[in-house]
Amino acid sequence: MKEEELRRLWKRTVKNLELEGILRDERVKEAFLKLPRYLFVEEKYRKYAHLDEPLPIPAGQTISAPHMVAIMLQLAELKPGMNVLEVGTGSGWNAALMAELVKGEVYTIERIPELVEFARRNLERAGIKNVHVILGDGSKGFPPKAPYDRIIVTAGAPEVPKPLIEQLKPRGKLIIPVGSYHLWQDLLEVIKMKDGSIKVKNHGGVAFVPLIGEHGWKG
Ligand code: SAM
Repeated sequence: MKEEELRRLWKRTVKNLELEGILRDERVKEAFLKLPRYLFVEEKYRKYAHLDEPLPIPAGQTISAPHMVAIMLQLAELKPGMNVLEVGTGSGWNAALMAELVKGEVYTIERIPELVEFARRNLERAGIKNVHVILGDGSKGFPPKAPYDRIIVTAGAPEVPKPLIEQLKPRGKLIIPVGSYHLWQDLLEVIKMKDGSIKVKNHGGVAFVPLIGEHGWKG
């Protein structure tokens, strides 16, 4: 499929998400238009990249559905200048969108070496230089660049990993799916208050691949 056609289909998806009331934030919408999902999937899946559903990426993992990515980014309320971390790089798409929204550096951590390479290639092809892909167990966060204003976790955890709370700034926010290993989790917005206590808002049922690691599911 030609780039022109891919772009036309992607614009239609963005318009539909807007009409459905899912894509509400103008900055997130602009970031979606600037960084279409087809840039972050393998050639054979490009023609499906506009569909509002997850798609396979290497190593048996997935790139999330556009509506899910929009919902998480909007909950995160990313602003220019924020220090942010993503756990679960996958294709690099969400990290690229985060970089566009903070207008700066993004740290993203992935446990599968093949995907670290995949994401780096995608980001390079998309001309993105300010996303740093790190190989490691993101359930432990990434202490060298902490504390963070925002952390987005794109894999499902059995509970909120303590290191991620510790690595948030006061008034910082963590967006994370928490629940069962297979299928359903609740999408949680975890806010760290000024006194260090946390407030949790539940945004309902989601389905993510498992967060595997020391503070996630055990292999
Ligand atoms: N954000 C991704 C994107 O934009 O394509 C989609 C991520 S995919 C749904 C979840 C990713 O989390 C997988 O690539 C998986 O390997 C990764 N993952 C699972 N456990 C992890 C951990 N402990 N640390 C880092 N990455 C992890």
